[in-house]
Amino acid sequence: MNIPAALTKVREAIPEGVTLVAVSKFHPESDLLQAYEAGQRVFGESHVQELVRKHDSLPADIQWHFIGHLQTNKVKYIAPFISLIHAVDTLKLLREIDRQAARCDRVIPVLLELHIAEEETKYGWTLDACRQFLAEGEWRNMQHVKISGLMMMASYVDDEAQINAEFQLASDFFDEMKSRFFADDPAFCQRSWGMSHDYPLAISHHSTMVRIGTAIFGERVY
Ligand SMILES: *Cc1c(COP(=O)(O)O)cnc(C)c1O
Repeated sequence: MNIPAALTKVREAIPEGVTLVAVSKFHPESDLLQAYEAGQRVFGESHVQELVRKHDSLPADIQWHFIGHLQTNKVKYIAPFISLIHAVDTLKLLREIDRQAARCDRVIPVLLELHIAEEETKYGWTLDACRQFLAEGEWRNMQHVKISGLMMMASYVDDEAQINAEFQLASDFFDEMKSRFFADDPAFCQRSWGMSHDYPLAISHHSTMVRIGTAIFGERVY
C-alpha cells in the first residue's frame, strides 16, 4: 500500500468541512507516521492498549479519536488525552467518561452511537432508547462531557438502497435530536458515518466525519 498516495486519493474524494479520521487500528506506528508526514493529524483507534502505546510514541499534535466499543473500566487510560469518543452507547459509560474527565480537569467531546444496521451487534442506542435517554436529561448535569453529535455504522451489505436508507434514517434522526434537545447548542454538530466501502454514500447523507481505514492503510493484519 502506498499510504501517502491512498491518503491523497481519499482526501480528494471528501468535500471541505468533512473531517477525515484515519482509522489506524492494527497498523504499525511506521504506517501512521507515513500518514502523519503526509499531513494527517486525526487518527482513529478502537483498542485502548494499542491506542495508549501509539499515543505515547507518536507526535504530540495528533488528535486521537476512540472509535470502538469502550469498556467502562478502561476510560481512565485514555481520558487524559482523547480528542473525541465516537461510540458512547450507555449512560453508565457516559457517567464514567464524565468522572474521569473531571479528574483530568477536561471536557471530553463524545458522540452517541446509534444502532440502525441490521447486523447483530449488541452496541448502540436504538432510536427510541436514544430519544428517551436525551429526554431524561441526566446528561445536562455532566460538566465534563460534551455530547457533540451522533455516530453509526450502516449494514455491511452490497445493497446500496439499504445503505442509503440507513444513512437517511440517521440523518433525519440527527435533525430531530438537534431540534428537540440541542437547538441552542452549536457543539452538537457531528454526524460520524462512512467507512472505506460506503463513505461516498455517507457524505451524500450529510456525514461530517468519515472513519476510513482500509482505503488508506490497506487490509488489517490481525
Ligand atoms: C475499523 C473501523 C472503521 C474503518 O473501517 P474500514 O472499512 O477499514 O474503513 C470505521 N469505524 C469503526 C467503528 C471501525 O471499527
